[in-house]
Amino acid sequence: MKEQSRAKIILNRNNCFNSGSNVISQCQELSKITEVQGELTRTYFTQSHNDCNELVGFWMKMAGMKVSYDEIGNVIGTLKPVKANDDNKIFVMGSHLDTVTNAGKYDGVLGVLTAIEAISSLVKDNIDLPYTVKVIGFSNEEGVRFPIARTGSKAIAGILDNDELQTKDRQGRSFSSQQQSFINNSCVPIVPVEILEKNLIGFLEVHIEQGPVLYRKDLPLGIVTSIQGADRYTVTISGIAGHAGTVPLAFRKDAMHKASILINRLYDLSHNNDFMLTVGRIKTHPDSTNTIAGEVTFTIDARSDNDFQRRERIGSCIDQFISDIEDKGMTAKVVHNYSSDTSICDHVLNDQLSKSMKKIGIPHCHLKSGAGHDALSFHNITPIAMIFVRCFEGLSHVPEEDVNSSDIEKAVNLVKETLISLGEK
Ligand SMILES: [Zn+2]
Repeated sequence: MKEQSRAKIILNRNNCFNSGSNVISQCQELSKITEVQGELTRTYFTQSHNDCNELVGFWMKMAGMKVSYDEIGNVIGTLKPVKANDDNKIFVMGSHLDTVTNAGKYDGVLGVLTAIEAISSLVKDNIDLPYTVKVIGFSNEEGVRFPIARTGSKAIAGILDNDELQTKDRQGRSFSSQQQSFINNSCVPIVPVEILEKNLIGFLEVHIEQGPVLYRKDLPLGIVTSIQGADRYTVTISGIAGHAGTVPLAFRKDAMHKASILINRLYDLSHNNDFMLTVGRIKTHPDSTNTIAGEVTFTIDARSDNDFQRRERIGSCIDQFISDIEDKGMTAKVVHNYSSDTSICDHVLNDQLSKSMKKIGIPHCHLKSGAGHDALSFHNITPIAMIFVRCFEGLSHVPEEDVNSSDIEKAVNLVKETLISLGEK
């Protein structure tokens, strides 16, 4: 990075009067690193990915950490105890540095920069933790450029399947060719999970809520109890297309009419059973104003923290529907495209977060995460926890995404207090 831009960043830091506004000014600085002028879009293995990693790495160094860049595009800051040895336990924090297309300024980066700010404060206060802390800016959580997601955190957690990497971007460039041109001689191999796993204390991710619960409750922070499981289906209902004016209702095999019945049944089911259901895409054929739909295809996205109940109830609702329409000479095909189980956040880490919040006087609540996050990657190897930060009107994945500095300051203080308390155990 050029010395000039480093000087400017230092100036920005010195101008700030608290940790919250420090983090916000850094998020704003990072939002200028984009591959599309006039908006924030930063995807995998691009120049903007590289520039972002360098700047975050620089801030990690400024905070007192040793910095490395690995072969999958992560940037890793490490703070060891003063008298470090090979048996030191490791606590990992982090979130992602990539963005969606035309993104907001805080999704992902906020968690990385909050963690760095907490470390910086510990170092300034000469607090020597009895364990190693790693802060990781993960690559490719969003999966915008290649059809794979959470690549950086999966690689660190040792759950990245090599088959996932046999993929191409929309221009037909292979993952491996783009990886080769991105990494350089100073990149380190990915830390093997076996080494991490035996020493890991846990994983903590700070993230904007991306929903309106904290904003509506007027609370700055929330402790996440679980990252909800999700299932996605594509349903295709087939009937017979025909003239909208001449076919009497009794003789119709109207795919749209039947689709509307199933969609209503599914929404009623979700409202009565506390799971979130969304039909976000619908296609009709022949897609004509004055023609009865011969075929309708729509998607279902369902999320809850009761995986068995969600799948069982959607499955029986669809089975009943298929049997009803088959009696009328129509058919429906269902493809179960995606399935992920609920990850429960660790009770011990959550209790510690609650105690730290009470100690430093932060009002909060507990809430579920309906979105997937990097923390998911670590669920099977170490206790995980997440802190949600209120965002303006719950807006996220849009340029209007916004946070306030006093909430961020609370998050920094909470992370710092929690790290100290974990060291006292
Ligand atoms: Zn995110």
